[in-house]
Amino acid sequence: MVDEFKDKVDEAVSIIRDSKYLIVLVGAGLSKESGIPTFRGPGGIWTKYGEPPMNGFQEFLNDPNQYWLNQIERDNEENGPSAEMRKTLAVAVPNPGHIALATLEEIGILKFTITQNIDNLHFRAGNVKVVEIHGNRYKLRCIECGLRVNRDDFLIDDYPPRCPECGGLIKGDGVMFGEPIPAQWLSTCYDQVNLCDAMLLVGTSGTVFPAASFPEIAKRQGAKLIEVNPLDTSLSTLCDVIIRSPSAEALPIILQELKISLDSL
Ligand SMILES: [Zn+2]
Repeated sequence: MVDEFKDKVDEAVSIIRDSKYLIVLVGAGLSKESGIPTFRGPGGIWTKYGEPPMNGFQEFLNDPNQYWLNQIERDNEENGPSAEMRKTLAVAVPNPGHIALATLEEIGILKFTITQNIDNLHFRAGNVKVVEIHGNRYKLRCIECGLRVNRDDFLIDDYPPRCPECGGLIKGDGVMFGEPIPAQWLSTCYDQVNLCDAMLLVGTSGTVFPAASFPEIAKRQGAKLIEVNPLDTSLSTLCDVIIRSPSAEALPIILQELKISLDSL
């Protein structure tokens, strides 16, 4: 290991080892390492095809039937943003960064994951305690009671589909522009941020709110912040340790060094 990288890893390991409640905030950078381009980055679908309408949620409320007609049409398209996303996600697998986070949870070190990614890769890697604050591409959700179901398991016999629990409207779980993040998810996030004494920031640019505010809240109450990101971000100045490497490289090494450090206690 290059000396500077090793020093930073050692600092991160020492913070994690001394922490009682480590959580992680994850952004698109981690998914990018699994081959999923960030929406707004080079090659991203919003860069290529334009951003979705800013009033997408309002359009859904105005005409849920049309929303579902569009969904069905998109699901059958061979080209375009939706098809491209579908094909990219179909071949994406958790990378060593995801696996390291899942192992950290499994050995009891990582207490919670807040992710902005919608690709389900944390669950596929083995993480259990996760809030997906932008939703999950493979789920549907009732906008009234928040019930979430797997897209593939939910049989739609009438449009627009209604919630089996409360009769509310069902839409894709992904949080649209103009749609409030479900209050229950946010409240879980704030609870976790308040509990943490150390936070890993993995592949998040710190520009999308409310996620971008979590590190600052944690920092204000004394938590240590460790950034793992090949790029400088607007959160970098808040961080106690910055590891300028891809997560798929840095996280497995942090995990390995942490295990050695814990074994030597
Ligand atoms: Zn419902």
